Amino acid sequence: MMGKTHIAVGAAAFSVVTPPPTDIKDFLFWGGQLIVTMIASVAADIDDPRTTAGKIILPFVPRWLRPTAFSILGMLLIWHGFQHSIPWVMACGFFFFGAAISKHRNSPTHSPVGLFFLCLLTYLYLPIMLIPVFTGYLTHLITDAITEGIPIMWPFPGWLRIPITETNSFMDRVVFRFGSIIVLGYQVLQMSFF
Ligand SMILES: [Zn+2]
Repeated sequence: MMGKTHIAVGAAAFSVVTPPPTDIKDFLFWGGQLIVTMIASVAADIDDPRTTAGKIILPFVPRWLRPTAFSILGMLLIWHGFQHSIPWVMACGFFFFGAAISKHRNSPTHSPVGLFFLCLLTYLYLPIMLIPVFTGYLTHLITDAITEGIPIMWPFPGWLRIPITETNSFMDRVVFRFGSIIVLGYQVLQMSFF
């Protein structure tokens, strides 16, 4: 599925799992969680630095240069994490480096292993964002499973594809994307101060 659709579906799913609060103060926190969900909903596509995920991380680097930039960034993070004994920085470094050299959609980021790994890191360092990260990432895997398919058993062979629609199709660009925006809008309008 396309990046924008992933973001919309993730945001809608979060608004259903965690409905918007009625208090304005809590609403700001909810908004922060919503933004994290949206980022998590495209994080899996980091295995292709030319996608929306790559654009978020390296916004000013042109598309064609991003795989190289990802490798360099990955190596720098591994080195920095190693020098200062910060395991999560090293883990991110391996993640970026792995992303740059792996094949799009046939990589750990599109598998339950990627979901588990990111949730574990979130649980250890930012547990308050666990539900947003889990929701965003899981909706990505599901919506890719119904389009191109995902390596469900990674690192073992095995491909899960439930052929419901295709990337960049009418279902992708209109039904899923705008349907999700309507769900999100409906959830927000349920709040009492509107
Ligand atoms: Zn994907």
